[in-house]
Amino acid sequence: MPGFELFGEKEKSEVLDVLESGILMRYGFDNLRNGHFKAKDLESEITKRFNVSHSQLASSGTAAISMALAVAGIGAGDEVIIPSFTFVASFEAILLIGAIPIVVDIDDTLTLDIESVKKSITSKTKAIMPVHMCGSMADMGSLIEISNKHSLILIEDACQAIGGTYNGIPLGTIGDLGCFSFDFVKTVTCGEGGVVVTNNKEFALKLDYFSDHGHDHVGNNRGAESHPYIGYNFRISELNSAVGLAQFRRLDEFLEIQKNNYTILRNALQEIDSITFRTVPKGGVESYAFLNFYLNDIQSAKAVARSFSSSGIDSCFYYLDNNWHYINNWDHFKEIKSLYPFPNELAQGLKYLKTKDFSKSDYYIGRNISCLIKLSWTKEEVTERAKIMVDCINAVIKN
Ligand SMILES: *Cc1c(COP(=O)(O)O)cnc(C)c1O
Repeated sequence: MPGFELFGEKEKSEVLDVLESGILMRYGFDNLRNGHFKAKDLESEITKRFNVSHSQLASSGTAAISMALAVAGIGAGDEVIIPSFTFVASFEAILLIGAIPIVVDIDDTLTLDIESVKKSITSKTKAIMPVHMCGSMADMGSLIEISNKHSLILIEDACQAIGGTYNGIPLGTIGDLGCFSFDFVKTVTCGEGGVVVTNNKEFALKLDYFSDHGHDHVGNNRGAESHPYIGYNFRISELNSAVGLAQFRRLDEFLEIQKNNYTILRNALQEIDSITFRTVPKGGVESYAFLNFYLNDIQSAKAVARSFSSSGIDSCFYYLDNNWHYINNWDHFKEIKSLYPFPNELAQGLKYLKTKDFSKSDYYIGRNISCLIKLSWTKEEVTERAKIMVDCINAVIKN
């Protein structure tokens, strides 16, 4: 997945362009910037590649999610449904705008379990936020149906699945709004950065205001611009955008490498009868950023994870014990360890977390091993890796 592995001349040259003009900010200074608008250029490339009408870059993927929620009018006391398996960022982005993350179970897709979503809808629910974890997706067809039926906003956290598709449509562009991260370890990186994509013109305008202190970006005198709404600073810099521009132009090259490496590993592991692969919803095509598979029970999965790490198979994750991606170890949210006085309504809204049962999620996460697909591997390296992985799994199963 990480695009930084293949960093090269293209990235350097885009950054040098920016340094030569010295204008590191995306807005203003038009007469000094030698015609360089890296953020704007990156936005138009994203818009074109994903066939959407608008993209708004942000300082991070987390910022992008908060922006998406805000412009959809979601805030204090509103409930947003998210899966138990995600990155803390999805949860944080909802808290930031004062809404309540309602964490629900996942199923064998490793994303939102549709029945759990249905059961969790209340009069306060305003949005559903599927998180397309580890290169694959939630059952978007069902989620669209549920959102339409209950008039909910559908926001995709596609931070880990750039390049994946559902019925031929790019992930991130299916819901009302979609978010990607360009942080350092994502398939395409800006160093730090993110983007919101949407086909909704009103949301697009508001994203533009909200991410830059409410500026309306009309005319060419920043100081004289008006501010139709309260905004904050979620801007990306030109330097980050320059890196991202070079990387984003290489997206298809990266996706092809991911798919080739994934396929070698998958073909090898497929020979093992007692493992199963993560379910991809009908019509879905993964981004191949990860290869996910299940063992029959928790003990075997833990043993395989141990065996991988003692055999030098790095970047395979066992998420049941993970502090960042799975609900089990999120005590700082459950105990509301806030540095500042926390809104009472929000604290009340989060109380359920202390007692909610996630055994259904445990059943999937506890048996899952998730292997990051790297871009820098040679064919020989992946083939050798596949062999070691098969040996490790077989040794555990036969025990
Ligand atoms: C990376 C990531 C984000 C946001 O990440 P930033 O580091 O803030 O760019 C959000 N959700 C998921 C699932 C992620 O993997």
